[in-house]
Amino acid sequence: MMLIADLRSALGEGSVLTGVDIGARHSSDMSGTGTTAPAAVIRPRTVEDVSTALRLCNEAGVPVIAHGGLTGLAGGANPSGNEIAISLELLRGIEEIDVASATMTVKAGTPLEECQKAAAEAGLFLALDLGSRGSAHIGGNLSTNAGGIRVIRYGMAREQVLGLEAVLADGTVISSMNKMLKNNAGYDLKHLFIGSEGTLGVITRAVLRLHPPPGEITTVLCAVASYDDVVTLLRRAQGELGNIVAFEAMWREYYDFNSRALKLSFFAEPHPFCVILESTEGTSTIEAFLAAMMENGLIQDAVLAQSQAQAREIWSVREGHPIEVLPNLLNFDVSLPIAKIGEYATACGKALHARWPSSHNSFYGHVGDSNVHICVSVEYGPGEDMHSVDDIVYGVLKDYNGSISAEHGIGTLKRPYLHLSRSAQELALMRSLKAALDPKGTLNPGKVI
Ligand SMILES: Cc1cc2nc3c(=O)[nH]c(=O)nc-3n(C[C@H](O)[C@H](O)[C@H](O)COP(=O)(O)OP(=O)(O)OC[C@H]3O[C@@H](n4cnc5c(N)ncnc54)[C@H](O)[C@@H]3O)c2cc1C
Repeated sequence: MMLIADLRSALGEGSVLTGVDIGARHSSDMSGTGTTAPAAVIRPRTVEDVSTALRLCNEAGVPVIAHGGLTGLAGGANPSGNEIAISLELLRGIEEIDVASATMTVKAGTPLEECQKAAAEAGLFLALDLGSRGSAHIGGNLSTNAGGIRVIRYGMAREQVLGLEAVLADGTVISSMNKMLKNNAGYDLKHLFIGSEGTLGVITRAVLRLHPPPGEITTVLCAVASYDDVVTLLRRAQGELGNIVAFEAMWREYYDFNSRALKLSFFAEPHPFCVILESTEGTSTIEAFLAAMMENGLIQDAVLAQSQAQAREIWSVREGHPIEVLPNLLNFDVSLPIAKIGEYATACGKALHARWPSSHNSFYGHVGDSNVHICVSVEYGPGEDMHSVDDIVYGVLKDYNGSISAEHGIGTLKRPYLHLSRSAQELALMRSLKAALDPKGTLNPGKVI
């Protein structure tokens, strides 16, 4: 391909991988649904390289996919075979931490955990945190508008961004590396690229907002009798305890499966719900709150982590790696008004069970952010595939005006269902934006819309 030769001569021989040099990992994100390698992988080291590569691909009419840490769960980075994948892995590093402005300027290919550690070393706190922190890149986090476990206190990835640089399909560099908290000078262009999953531009750098360190975090695991009690506990904890930095609920099936597999036992008997509550209030205040909630029956039992190691054990149940061994496991990521999540989970579980009586269905998630994840494992019958499960999970969700993606994005996997969460007018405006920024449809075609 002429384009490959042009890319090699523009970026350098070693920056363009083809054939066996590509490696299997570029065929799929962590959803495991991709099967095809891209035509080539290019690894730019500078913003100028990204710009040149995009211009050449756009002129040649060859599609491009951005590859970050490939931890996405929506198939957004999956190739279909004819694309050039732009891996941002060499565009890595922290350019500056400005303590006075409380900002970090970072290249898109930097892993999240590297940014968290650098912020902590500077005496500050990067509020974005998710289980894939060791591999996911900042560019991937922003292009998916990742959520994670600190949203309840600090908001989603979008809220951590003050400035952004992105390259359009034709190679134009849009540099909006703003450091100010307030800047209302016209349209806030960074939001076009945050959450658009690489369909409107390739993110190359960002200015992230940092916070004062939250102080010592205390982790508590609470046993709760009903979903309504979970919601009441959340509101009372926010109102009476304060400084809540995480609030995660696990339905019994999810908690039992993982705690059993991990050989961790926190309670003498099973409970319908287990909640991880984290606060930066002092231990004595937290203990007094827990005592009051146990006295009024809102909490059935509680374990206050006595060490970082015990807190990690509690989180390991929530992170739920044991469940990943179940066959054909699908992980859904939906949101709906918090008061309705319990009802939805029951209705969805019943519908799945009615169709596949031996299926495993379990629920957990960031309920403080109206977000619930659903693990479904079924043995497909003749003519069935993952979309048979989608139809049920999203079909029930439609009755609750929920969103088919709370935080993982649309990618390829949810594209056929986007119309359930967005109106015809919203979809038309999305298509107009895509056409305005990427008229030839070069960037991540077949994804999102
Ligand atoms: C164990 C585990 C836990 C997770 N927990 C959470 C969680 O709590 N919350 C959550 O929201 N997600 C979670 N995820 C999903 C995933 O980690 C996030 O979606 C993450 O933000 C993806 O980052 P990435 O660098 O791996 O992106 P990739 O998977 O490489 O790409 C994701 C999408 O972004 C695009 N993209 C990547 N880099 C760029 C760029 N520089 N410019 C433009 N587009 C780009 C890709 O084309 C693709 O469409 C989890 C995943 C795993 C495996």
